[in-house]
Amino acid sequence: MKAAVVQRPEVVETCEMACPAPAPGEVLVRVAYCGVCGSDVPRVWMGTAHSYPIVLGHEFSGEVVEVGDGVDAALMGQRVAGVPLVPCHECDDCAAGDFSLCKHYSFIGSRRPGAFAEYVAAPAQNVFPLPDDVSYLNGAFFEPATVALHALRLLGRLQWGCGDAAGAEEDNQPEKLQEKFVGQRFISAVGNSSPEDCESPHAYAWFAAYAGSTAAVVGSGTIGIFLAQALQAAGARVVLLGRREAPLEVAQEAGVRQVALTSGDDWITAAKEAYAPIGFDFVFDATGNAAAMPRSLELAANHGRVCMVGTPKEDMVFSPRLWEDINRKELFLTGSWMSYSAPWPGEEWPLAARLFAVGAMKVTEAMVDTVYPLAEAAEAFARFAPGSQNKASGKVLIEA
Ligand SMILES: [Zn+2]
Ligand SMILES: [Zn+2]
Repeated sequence: MKAAVVQRPEVVETCEMACPAPAPGEVLVRVAYCGVCGSDVPRVWMGTAHSYPIVLGHEFSGEVVEVGDGVDAALMGQRVAGVPLVPCHECDDCAAGDFSLCKHYSFIGSRRPGAFAEYVAAPAQNVFPLPDDVSYLNGAFFEPATVALHALRLLGRLQWGCGDAAGAEEDNQPEKLQEKFVGQRFISAVGNSSPEDCESPHAYAWFAAYAGSTAAVVGSGTIGIFLAQALQAAGARVVLLGRREAPLEVAQEAGVRQVALTSGDDWITAAKEAYAPIGFDFVFDATGNAAAMPRSLELAANHGRVCMVGTPKEDMVFSPRLWEDINRKELFLTGSWMSYSAPWPGEEWPLAARLFAVGAMKVTEAMVDTVYPLAEAAEAFARFAPGSQNKASGKVLIEA
């Protein structure tokens, strides 16, 4: 098969290599699309890959074409999205459903061969069925979409105080659920008529936590757009904030109703005045920008919930006054890592499937910069090279 191999830092070559054989418990997926993630960039250009040579690629979709021993043959021909984390499923973190926090993990496309290839082998539990009406191209966006939903899950659960298992069970009581489906907005978003219809009521309880709230998403990349789409579907009044006009237009085309620029002297005051005079109930940072991240705190209301989804590459400076905001406003500040919860692979995945199937989350043409054939993988990665004159403005994908 053909695969894009990172031979050593800065060198990507599309080569012929042996097609992987699915081990017992694994499936072989014929890759349709695989997106280039921000996390792949340093693995190519800064020498941070787990090992070289390596086949990267973890945001993928495709079809199951072979099953290993012990795998249900019914999976053959199944259209799937890749679930890249391979946690140990045995440690205390995994037992608690915190798979993202597992320290004994493998990862498709960073610790084991990934999907910038015609075929990728994966444990059978590392593929997620795509609904019939979700395209392969959209399927390649499931992983980043679940990253956005994981952040919503964290803050939504915080809002309802359902951080522990006992609390979670209590949250599933019908009266409690009823009370949580504020305004029934979520239900109309996903086409349910009552909480009892939901396949995973608890998942929807945290999702419903956003109904009627105000939310700010800072950062207008793929994850920022997904956060805004999902928050809108959950019934929040969301504004997506970004540095440049073009990506905000892309977001609007993708259905995000309210957008605002983070330029100008006092964009924070302006955003609050326009969308949330007492500050936002929820703030999500999806910039990973060290200058922007601390300012998220300024957007939050008293007792606001702030979630850092992006990861910074530089030192971050908080003025004492800004840090004092955490105290004075009694903010809840959390980070979010990957996209997994119990039951494996987590509530984020069926919810993403549902939201894509009903069109509440979607990928528009403008969100895709370029789809490169596998033979041109080196060109695709060159878009992210330090000093590239042709930086990507949207998702770059490779079609196998
Ligand atoms: Zn990624
Ligand atoms: Zn584990």
